[in-house]
Amino acid sequence: PVSKLPDIGTSIFSVMTQLAQECGAINLAQGFPDYDPPLALQQALARHATTAGHHQYAPMPGLPRLREAIARKTARVYGIPEPDPATEITVTCGATEALYAVLAAVVHPGDEVLVLEPAYDLYGPAIRLQGGVPVYVPLPAPHFRPDWDLVRAALSPRTRLVMLNSPHNPSGAVLTAADLDTLAALLRDTATMLLSDEVYEHMVFDGEPHRSVLQHPELRERAFVLSSFGKTYHATGWKLGYCIAPPALTAEVRRVHQFLTFAVSTPTQHALADVLETDAAHDQHLPAFYQHKRDLFRELLAGSRFELLPVPGGYFQLARYHRISTLPDVEFARHLTREAGVAVVPVSAFYHNGHDAGLIRFCFAKQDATLQAAAERLRVL
Ligand code: PMP
Ligand code: GLN
Repeated sequence: PVSKLPDIGTSIFSVMTQLAQECGAINLAQGFPDYDPPLALQQALARHATTAGHHQYAPMPGLPRLREAIARKTARVYGIPEPDPATEITVTCGATEALYAVLAAVVHPGDEVLVLEPAYDLYGPAIRLQGGVPVYVPLPAPHFRPDWDLVRAALSPRTRLVMLNSPHNPSGAVLTAADLDTLAALLRDTATMLLSDEVYEHMVFDGEPHRSVLQHPELRERAFVLSSFGKTYHATGWKLGYCIAPPALTAEVRRVHQFLTFAVSTPTQHALADVLETDAAHDQHLPAFYQHKRDLFRELLAGSRFELLPVPGGYFQLARYHRISTLPDVEFARHLTREAGVAVVPVSAFYHNGHDAGLIRFCFAKQDATLQAAAERLRVL
């Protein structure tokens, strides 16, 4: 057979965005903001896109000045020593490339990789493309917080890697310091590594902190920690992310990265370095900025027949629709897009077996006016 992924169709995010465009629906499906990056960042890109010498390949691991800025920011945000830009930080083409590079670097055929489900749609297929075996552990609704006994039971001597995602897509669940301690105890005396997808690190609400794996010395030693400037700077189209890992693990990521993309576009890296060097306040505004959007969207839907699940972090709102329809979630999402003019993502897309929990996902990274317009259409259902 030609296909290595015969059971995998087009990503739900592409499918729903295309349907939204065809129907002229408000797109609360694919996760991206409908507002622009900070003006200073746009202007920095314009500057660097018209600067001689910024049009050729960047160094393979990323521009040194960007890696240095990432090191300083990471130390400031998490109160930890600076990761070494030379040996511990790699700039990637979005967190997407970092995820793939890590998996390609460390997963051998037959290795097990533990995935907490629902999970971002890339994880399972990318593991399988390496010959790895995803081992799925369910996250119990409605809080979608890990049941560590289930994780313990799923670990085996063949577990090469555990995938973590906090704040979690699609549920918004946030891991606590105690969660990280429990995981550290489970992995102690094993060779199992950790991939921590922290792209929503600056979207944690109600005064709670984001607990980064980078703050946990024991886990950090075995971890690849990923983030994305797409999320943090409202610039998903720039495809700029990074991986922080100890030197020996970083060396493995770079072995793959050099042959996957080699390097990331040069002007965007300079632009990000400029704003990181001059505006440390940007990320500090994000929790309040997104908490406002979460609260607004929830208030707007309060009188509707959707049942809203808790949202401690991230920029997605999960909702049950059993009081509106008995359709399977994929059909309900299409129906909502076509008939109500609001595109959403069916949560079954985050399960390898298409498990349907009767949930849809709204993205609230939208202008207040967009959220209001969408809510007007949703409230009458
Ligand atoms: N991981 C998660 C959990 C995500 O939601 C996303 C973005 N949709 C990514 C990784 C990919 O990030 P990027 O856009 O930087 O490639
Ligand atoms: N991460 C985004 C989401 O969850 C989509 C990214 C993509 O379209 N690949 O909606």
